[in-house]
Amino acid sequence: MRTIQTALPPGSTVGILGGGQLARMLTLAAAPLGIKCHIFAPEADSPAFQVSAAHTLAAYSDTEALAAFAAAVDVVTYEFENVPAATAAFLATRVPVAPGVFALETAQDRVTEKTFIASLGVPVAPFAAVDDIESLETALGTIGRPSILKTRRFGYDGKGQTRIDSDTSAAAAFAEIGQSPAILEGFVRFDKEVSVIAARSWDGSIAVFDVPENHHEHHILKTSTVPADICPSVAEEARTIGGRIIAALGYVGVIGIEMFVSGEQLTVNEIAPRVHNSGHWTMDACCVSQFEQHIRAICRWPLGSAERHCDVVMTNLLGDDAGRWQALAAEPDVRIHLYGKSEARRGRKMGHFNRLTPRQA
Ligand code: AMP
Repeated sequence: MRTIQTALPPGSTVGILGGGQLARMLTLAAAPLGIKCHIFAPEADSPAFQVSAAHTLAAYSDTEALAAFAAAVDVVTYEFENVPAATAAFLATRVPVAPGVFALETAQDRVTEKTFIASLGVPVAPFAAVDDIESLETALGTIGRPSILKTRRFGYDGKGQTRIDSDTSAAAAFAEIGQSPAILEGFVRFDKEVSVIAARSWDGSIAVFDVPENHHEHHILKTSTVPADICPSVAEEARTIGGRIIAALGYVGVIGIEMFVSGEQLTVNEIAPRVHNSGHWTMDACCVSQFEQHIRAICRWPLGSAERHCDVVMTNLLGDDAGRWQALAAEPDVRIHLYGKSEARRGRKMGHFNRLTPRQA
């Protein structure tokens, strides 16, 4: 595996797989450091193309385009976890890739992911691999109901999962997720959902942001509030767990780790090997945002301070919500971020805003 031994100087180029809003915000955060970004994405209307120094419009399987991309950049990163493993492996033989292929593969499969987290002694929901109706029946026998059946791979924003209650038939649940290889998870009765946004550099140094409390609507993140309304010792424990996971993965870059809080108990739900929607508040409430922190980490710059200087509520602008831009722009304590997407489909992430208030504690 190729690594970076000394800091990439200003003028260097970061290659980013994926051209959505996360790549766009990474590119914007790289600019003040004098770092250019080259986006590789298959969609012609990728929001990151609008702000990047260069882009390649090609399929992730196009090895000729990937080889040219690898030759044009100093390090490769990605903005989504479903990068085909073969694409990451192909690039990794030519150029440093961060986060590395191990972290990507771990996060791409929910069974591998939960097995890895549990092996660190970090609590996860009881789980079992499911390949067919028989193994689902067996798993239901041990894990019980209610429980949640999720596809092992390619699930996001609540897609590819279904709840199994006392009256749900195993066959119907398995059909609901398309009879794909799956994981059955015990249902966690949580009070709150929080996340940890952490960064680790090539030299092993780690910085962890404060813990946001996350609210979802129709399985899509709606708000992240910082600080979370949880006991400070639980928040500290969440940050410690985040640090342990990122170190154990040998990870380079920013990671998002979603957790449930039940009383004083934390349960890790999943990890996202990339900058995370629940970290968008850092853009305006911290000295260094998650996006700049990611660029610093993968380019082997010193990590910045993750300190928070404001209290903040981040709200996603989904679909037509983005029509509020003018009123939001007029509010003095609001910072608005729009992603340059032309079509406001229902539930589509069009932008977000951060409402800042003086830090209380
Ligand atoms: P995920 O795709 O794993 O992020 O799950 C989407 C949402 O489903 C989470 O944010 C939770 O609200 C809910 N959820 C997922 N897994 C569980 C679980 N094991 N117990 C209870 N709720 C869950």
